[in-house]
Amino acid sequence: MIGGSEPFDVLVVGGGNAALCAAITARRAGASVLLLESAPKDFRGGNSRHTRDIRYMHRAATEYVTGAYDEEEFWQDLLGVTGGATNERLARLTIRDSECLGDWMPANGVRWQKPLRGTLHLTRSNLFMLGGGKAMVNGYYDTAAKLGVEIAYETEVRELKMSAGEFASAMASRNGASNEYAAKALVVASGGFEANIPWLKEYWGDVAENFIIRGTPHNQGGMLKELLRHGAKPEGDPRGCHAVALDARAPKFDGGIVTRLDSPPFGIVVNKQLTRFYDEGEDFWPKRYAIWGKLIAEQPDQIAYSIVDAKALPHFMPSVFPPVQAASIPELAGALGIDPMLLGAAVNEFNQAVRPGKFDPGALDDCRTEGLVPPKSHWARPIDTPPYYGYPLRPGITFTYLGVTVNEQAQVIMQNDAPAKNVFAAGEVMAGNILGRGYLAGFGLTIGSVFGRIAGREAARCAGY
Ligand SMILES: Cc1cc2nc3c(=O)[nH]c(=O)nc-3n(C[C@H](O)[C@H](O)[C@H](O)COP(=O)(O)OP(=O)(O)OC[C@H]3O[C@@H](n4cnc5c(N)ncnc54)[C@H](O)[C@@H]3O)c2cc1C
Repeated sequence: MIGGSEPFDVLVVGGGNAALCAAITARRAGASVLLLESAPKDFRGGNSRHTRDIRYMHRAATEYVTGAYDEEEFWQDLLGVTGGATNERLARLTIRDSECLGDWMPANGVRWQKPLRGTLHLTRSNLFMLGGGKAMVNGYYDTAAKLGVEIAYETEVRELKMSAGEFASAMASRNGASNEYAAKALVVASGGFEANIPWLKEYWGDVAENFIIRGTPHNQGGMLKELLRHGAKPEGDPRGCHAVALDARAPKFDGGIVTRLDSPPFGIVVNKQLTRFYDEGEDFWPKRYAIWGKLIAEQPDQIAYSIVDAKALPHFMPSVFPPVQAASIPELAGALGIDPMLLGAAVNEFNQAVRPGKFDPGALDDCRTEGLVPPKSHWARPIDTPPYYGYPLRPGITFTYLGVTVNEQAQVIMQNDAPAKNVFAAGEVMAGNILGRGYLAGFGLTIGSVFGRIAGREAARCAGY
């Protein structure tokens, strides 16, 4: 019974993908498992409930993926985005172990769907969940409950009692009361610290006040702080985060996938001073969308504006909030609250630099600018067809990279390089071991699923199963 005197075998802190994979695996191994989720039941599932797809290794096309995606190609893709900032042993382990997820996930409550048409070109490498991440976590919670995993919502772990790398109990706040939960082994799967603005400010300064957090407000990083306080070895750049261009009208937290804007490659992006600051057509959007949050974070007041015309509109995902629309560029500037003269000048300068070419959104086409700084290398067409549209943009933080170091058993590594005896970590809290920089779409879930299962198995083993 939750809060009773009998200690559980395994305590799982967190309620997203990694935590659920760990809890289900530990329970299937025979361990008694308690999962503590700080969110209320309706908002359970952390950032995992915002996901759509998972990258996994596979040897052939199936009903749900269009072709093979083998270990070497996966590894090269990872090397490409991280520039080598990855632990090859853990990365290859993740890649190889991902192969079984195509079967393991449906066996535990997830359903696949045929890939949707979209901007991220993932139909060969990634599996899409029917109903998205929300249905995935609901399926996992059902499975966990049927297996007998005890689940407590609105229960935030605030303190870990540990000594010399050995966990004894966790202090958690529930309904205003503080409870102590003892267990033979602990799995920390509590996500990153992206929702903790004061902590982000330690690395970013006041700029972080203007960040919008795409996921759950519950990822405050409290467990990460506790593990570090107890001597866990940190891993990953404290300033590192995955950040995209987000509609500035999005809610401060939990806006999810729909508030991302994919318009930049099809128009121009200007900052508050109405100056372009980066090549909007540098490369395919799936390879570039994740740098735009940081680019906007570096602009005055962390605000930017995406400007497109009528002919651009069909080429990107429709936005959840309608774009600001006007019959002329000065009118559009007025509606966006920016200087009409300066926006007019920026659009004119861009239009005059555009060279004729054959527009092809599916290729790195020859529509480019000449003599413009910064250049626009592809998909550059004059912004000349009314109505004109604009979106205000803010940095949208997806997750942070700082975490704890782990080994192949998902054991947390301490400052003296020894593994913690009974403390395991999975998901975003350790993803920096594998994804030290950059991002591969669908790989957050891969890391959490693989390490969640390893952490669950090893925690159960540690508890005697
Ligand atoms: C909008 C959006 C879309 C995304 N799309 C994808 C995608 O399609 N594919 C993909 O692979 N990745 C995607 N990601 C990234 C993905 O969400 C993460 O990599 C993954 O979900 C992390 O899983 P996790 O279990 O580590 O953390 P989370 O799912 O965030 O879970 C952390 C959990 O810990 C709980 N928690 C935190 N602190 C405490 C505490 N002190 N006590 C108790 N509980 C606590 C939280 O409430 C939460 O339930 C997306 C992220 C966002 C924000």
